[in-house]
Amino acid sequence: MTSILNADLHCHSVVSDGTLTPEALATRAKANGVELWALTDHDEIGGQQRAAAAARAMGLKYLTGVEISVTFIHQTVHIVGLGFDANNPALQLGLVQTRGGRGQRAKAMSDDLAKVGIRGAYDGALKFAGNHELISRTHFARFLVDSGVCRETNEVFRKYLTEGKPGYVEHRWASLKDAVTWITQAGGVAVIAHPARYKFSANEEFALFSEFKAHGGLGVEVVTGSHTAAEYLSYADTAREFGLAASRGSDFHSPNESHTELGTLPHLPDHLTPVWELLSDRIQNPTDSDPGVSAPTGL
Ligand code: AMP
Ligand code: MN
Ligand code: MN
Ligand code: MN
Repeated sequence: MTSILNADLHCHSVVSDGTLTPEALATRAKANGVELWALTDHDEIGGQQRAAAAARAMGLKYLTGVEISVTFIHQTVHIVGLGFDANNPALQLGLVQTRGGRGQRAKAMSDDLAKVGIRGAYDGALKFAGNHELISRTHFARFLVDSGVCRETNEVFRKYLTEGKPGYVEHRWASLKDAVTWITQAGGVAVIAHPARYKFSANEEFALFSEFKAHGGLGVEVVTGSHTAAEYLSYADTAREFGLAASRGSDFHSPNESHTELGTLPHLPDHLTPVWELLSDRIQNPTDSDPGVSAPTGL
């Protein structure tokens, strides 16, 4: 496979904070010409079997996926895992622990919002959560739009859900080392998601990439829905500098909210190793005779 493959290795379903089912995403990916797909719900792999089966039914190549929330130098960093064995017990347990604090955080967010006159936010957000174990800021944003407090979800994040704003609650997620180790030991490849989104100094970013590599991380998202064209090029340089493979994914959440549609990103810049080249034996091919979530042959 080459770097011009239409791979979309980052998106979300109702199993986390997306609005479409894994099946609807598979259909949409296929319709948009995606050739290799991964569903990467936040801190949760409960949708993997459905996504893999739907991809298979659509004739779409599939890689298992997840996006793990990590705390690194007081910021939240997202680590995408691709091509792991979804039945791996240590990965499953790590994800249960990582999402375990979300309920309490959501109640604290709701209490904070009540102090600025917004009542019932916990119950309101929960109504938008397809998976009650995975209540996220996105569900609060949808509730605040639905109840007329804001016009769109971006505005909610700007006014209420980001650091220093009345509905923001600091949270401690998994460590970088744990997240990379869970993915890697389950036979997958760990990838730094949307690196341009973090607000690190140059030294802190260097520490993130160095430590990620030291723990066994192998990839970085270069072409993603949250990067500009200039950022594609600067993180292509970073990928080459650190000897990391490059990934490509829309981070699609919803037809109404996402500005980047599944499968519509530009191709990876030249002279990079596409992350799917490291994962050729983990790809679930629709023509494989034995269907399974993880295709763990030989690992
Ligand atoms: P959480 O994991 O609960 O902290 O929620 C993080 C999610 O919120 C991200 O995965 C995005 O889907 C969404 N998000 C974060 N920042 C923004 C923003 N500025 N506008 C819209 N959605 C955002
Ligand atoms: Mn999200
Ligand atoms: Mn993310
Ligand atoms: Mn994402």
